[in-house]
Order: sequence, then structure tokens, then C-alpha cells
Amino acid sequence: MVVCFEFLFLSLSSVDLKCSFTFRNSKQTYSGIPVIVSNMDTVGTFEMAVVMTQHAMFTAIHKHYTLEDWKLFATNHPECLEHVAVSSGSGQSDLERMSSILEAVPQIKYICLDVANGYSEHFVEFVKLVRAKFPEHTIMAGNVVTGEMVEELILSGADIIKVGIGPGSVCTTRTKTGVGYPQLSAVIECADSAHGLKGHIISDGGCTCPGDVAKAFGAGADFVMLGGMFSGHTECAGEVIERNGQKVKLFYGMSSETAMKKHSGRVAEYRASEGKTVEVPFKGNVENTILDILGGLRSTCTYVGAAKLKELSRRTTFIRVTQQHNTVFS
Ligand code: 5GP
Repeated sequence: MVVCFEFLFLSLSSVDLKCSFTFRNSKQTYSGIPVIVSNMDTVGTFEMAVVMTQHAMFTAIHKHYTLEDWKLFATNHPECLEHVAVSSGSGQSDLERMSSILEAVPQIKYICLDVANGYSEHFVEFVKLVRAKFPEHTIMAGNVVTGEMVEELILSGADIIKVGIGPGSVCTTRTKTGVGYPQLSAVIECADSAHGLKGHIISDGGCTCPGDVAKAFGAGADFVMLGGMFSGHTECAGEVIERNGQKVKLFYGMSSETAMKKHSGRVAEYRASEGKTVEVPFKGNVENTILDILGGLRSTCTYVGAAKLKELSRRTTFIRVTQQHNTVFS
């Protein structure tokens, strides 16, 4: 990303990271810092949502919590319910589970319809079905990477389109299948298509550092979803493991062998795992990581002269480079 230096006095503390959006189909409004914890079962946890809510950030809760888990969460943390989404795949049992949660906890306003490949007629029909069933909920749907499909999903009832195929930190789709799309290009193109219809997009996957989050917003993303950057914290699912004297936590893709075995008992013979399992260093409380990301974003805004995060894309110019940072001491 290249900055356009402006002679504008902006202090870090005066930068406004909160954004407000009104969604095209649900007609609901959103206000908050548009960074979303991914609905992966390691990071998209209730514990994570409690901390994110304190920072007006958002959590897409993973789809493996039961109705009872949700009822308990809603009772203990009513303040979080405006900042979370219920996730669902496109199967009948997923729909039934999500419907029962939304009926039991009517304060939830967001639905995250997540499939590995959003390019199917079945998925489009599913989005239409969910829109008809929940006319006032804000629907996130994906993943796709092209403008045409963004438009199709918005016209089918989705409000926010999840963009990204292949960029994730524990994703192996590109090596297993050869399928994928460069994330920055996908975001630039998809944002354009979505905004033309008054829709919104999430850049999902591929951020490795706060600067990448800033670039995703600079490219036109309304929201940025993070998995790997939020992994390894106290609020993540799983135990802290000692490995060669170091504390680590397990992080894995939702299509990895680990996830498939955990949730379906096995990897079906006809499918290849498209995710990997890694041990990440234990990073302690997620609060520090949040402050690091938000501090980085504020600083980006002051460099380019954006008083608000929402202005960032208008103040960003991209130039292709071969290296992001100086690696001489790394
Ligand atoms: P990260 O922020 O870790 O780079 O990317 C997170 C995103 O990777 C998730 O939100 C999801 O879209 C994607 N993802 C998660 N698990 C898998 C997986 O097993 N395979 C693939 N292809 N993508 C995954």
C-alpha cells in the first residue's frame, strides 16, 4: 500500500475506527469496528466474543455449539448478542439448528452462511430460502471471489458477501486443487460490485499482520475477517500444550483432517482435506493482539490522512512490490 501524505493534522487517538452501515436487504444498521473473528471452531468461540464485544468488534460464532450452549451464552452475556453471528452451512440439519437458535435467542441479528465454494445453484437457492425465512436478519454469505457472484448473492438476499478462496493461513485449497484467486484483487473487484448494489463485503482470509488488515480495508473491504491472527490465545478453544519447553495451541482449518474427524468422525473417502493443522505459540490474552491490530489501523489512517476508517479506501493507492518488509534481521 502506498500512502498519499496529506497535510492534515491527525493524532492517533482522534482516528475513528467505528463504522456505521445500513444493509441493503435486512435494512438493519451496524455500528462498530468492522473486524470479525472467523467462524472457525478454534477461534470463533463465545469466550472470544466476550472480549471482542468490549472493543465493539464482531465474532462469527462457529457452528458447533448446541442450542443449550447458545441459551446459556445469551443469559450470561446479553451485551454480546448484537456483535455475533450464528453460522450455518447449507445443509438441512444446519438450517434447522440455526433456526432453533434464532428462535430461542431473538436478539441475534446476524447470520453467517458459510460454504467452501459459493459457486453453486444450491447455495444461491439456500440464500433465498434463508432470506425468506428471516427477512430482518442481516445475512453474510460466501465464499466467492468474483463480482458476478457477489451480485448474484446480493440479489438473492444476502447483505454482506464473504470474499476469499484459498488465502487462509491453514487453507490448502490452492495446493490441493489449483483453485484460488489473489485476495487483494478479489477484494478490489468484489467491493466494486457490491457497493454498486449498496451491498457490503468481508475480506476473509490471508491477513498475517495488522498492515494486511489495513490493506484489506484500503482495497475496499467493509469488514475484515481473521482466523490465524486470533489463534493461539487464551480465549481460543483447546488446551495449552507444552512442546519442547514452549507453550503452544492447536489451530486447524475447518476442512482439515482434524476438523473432519472431530465433527464427522472421519474424512469421507471421496474428499481430500483442504486444510492443515498447526501448532501456534501460545499468545496469552487476545486483548494484546486486539490493541496491536487497532493501533496499527489507527496509524495507517494517520499516515494517509483518513480521519475515519471508512475513508481509508479513498486515500489508498496500491503499487505492486516483491517484498512487504525488510527481512535482513529475521
Ligand atoms: P486466516 O485469517 O487464517 O488467513 O483465514 C481464515 C479463513 O480461512 C476462514 O475465515 C475461512 O474462510 C478460511 N478457512 C478456514 N479453514 C479452512 C480450510 O480448512 N480450508 C480452506 N480452504 N479455507 C479455510
